[in-house]
Amino acid sequence: MHTEKIIEENKQGQSLVAKKVTGNDKKLFIESYGCQMNMSDSEIVASILVKEGFNTTQKLEEADLVLVNTCSIRDNAEQTIRKRLQYYNSVKRTKNPSMKVGVLGCMAERLKSKFLEEEKIVDLVVGPDAYRDLPNLVEEVEAGRDAINVILSKEETYGDVSPVRLQSNGVSAFVSITRGCDNMCTFCVVPFTRGRERSRDPQSIIEEIRDLNQKNFKEVTLLGQNVDSYLWYGGGLKKDFSKASEIAQSTAVDFAQLLDLCAAEFPKIRFRFSTSNPQDMHLDVLHVMAKHNNICKYIHLPVQSGSTRILERMNRQHTREEYMELVDNVRRILPDCSISQDMITGFCGETEEDHQDTLSLLEYVKYDFGFMFAYSERPGTLAAKKFEDDIPLAVKKRRLAEVISLQLKHSHYWTKQHVGKVEEVLIEGTSKKNENEWKGRNTQNTIVVFPKEHYKMGDFVNVKINSCTSATLIGTAVGYSENN
Ligand code: SAM
Repeated sequence: MHTEKIIEENKQGQSLVAKKVTGNDKKLFIESYGCQMNMSDSEIVASILVKEGFNTTQKLEEADLVLVNTCSIRDNAEQTIRKRLQYYNSVKRTKNPSMKVGVLGCMAERLKSKFLEEEKIVDLVVGPDAYRDLPNLVEEVEAGRDAINVILSKEETYGDVSPVRLQSNGVSAFVSITRGCDNMCTFCVVPFTRGRERSRDPQSIIEEIRDLNQKNFKEVTLLGQNVDSYLWYGGGLKKDFSKASEIAQSTAVDFAQLLDLCAAEFPKIRFRFSTSNPQDMHLDVLHVMAKHNNICKYIHLPVQSGSTRILERMNRQHTREEYMELVDNVRRILPDCSISQDMITGFCGETEEDHQDTLSLLEYVKYDFGFMFAYSERPGTLAAKKFEDDIPLAVKKRRLAEVISLQLKHSHYWTKQHVGKVEEVLIEGTSKKNENEWKGRNTQNTIVVFPKEHYKMGDFVNVKINSCTSATLIGTAVGYSENN
């Protein structure tokens, strides 16, 4: 089949690179909300549908099939998607009555047939483990019937599906290594929408990275809800590992081994990973990071609260002190490593004292970056069943503002530490503010901008950092790095 590369822009302004397959005449418009796993899943969906005669399009009005990959993590995420669905339906009514609309991902799993039966706003509902069934479901929908599959799987990892790189700059790509989550944090809807945790065959991970390497990609982010918990023992749920045969257990591959394998096999590729869960991040991962120059020195280490009492209510499997010890180990083994956090303010029963513990943990760690949220009760979660959502919204927001303000101070502190240094940057695209400047990231994941000169996308460049804002480093290239 003859293929050509096209560059598209979607509604959110992200650049889409997709293979336009000549001969495919049905048009698919696909949008993703939420976490990186959703972006990665949409690439799997596109791959499955390209085989069914679809091409991706940026123009909603001309689409035969509109799919939205959804997020349920907070109520406002769901509200945004509902507004989007209303918009699709207005386009369908006024401009393209034969258009079919489908919901994928976490909201599909959470609300199941509610979308079809009560709200009647979509034609198709597909949960995160049912994308292989899309050809049948689309056929049903094309024949004028509603279609739904929200069955969660014990084995599905889409290991053999080669993703169509949708949201890609042609330089960095996501490779999914685990699916689902077993943590059962009381605030979180993920275990209910994405099912139990399972890991992907390392061989298929290596094959996907080999393909990316051949296509000249320079950076791979290994993805999962809890990457440190990765465990391949021949397939199946993580929770069933103890039931596996002795040989399967003794030859199992854990995350440190997988990371080591990837970094050694592809020395020219830069590796990142996300997300790390503190209870599962062990010293061997830190030692593997120290061993390989091509593993970026950045760890996203969500903590959610600085109070042991609240951590216990959240069912996070560690105390404040254990978390601090882990951070001490990161600082000892990887002195230049940056660390970022996820934090929730105003969780059920959080007192002013608990909040002060969060602020003091922020002071202790001095995170480089942070992703901070006011607690949003999610129906069906353990917290919604067990605790009262008793912190007034104004208090949640005031605490959130205090956390954000302290984080901004620390982010600025860290960016200033880079000034005067020469740092390796991978060029990922043109700076949003100045088309004569490149933007990329250093190993610590800080954005760096600098004049383009003769350098090009995908180059590894040494950049002298001259100044900074709270989130961006500003510099001048001084030559190619040895990785180039
Ligand atoms: N697996 C990671 C972990 O928990 O360590 C992150 C998963 S979640 C997709 C991303 C972030 O959303 C969480 O770290 C948490 O800070 C936030 N989050 C999850 N549930 C939330 C809720 N009910 N209200 C507010 N924020 C929430």
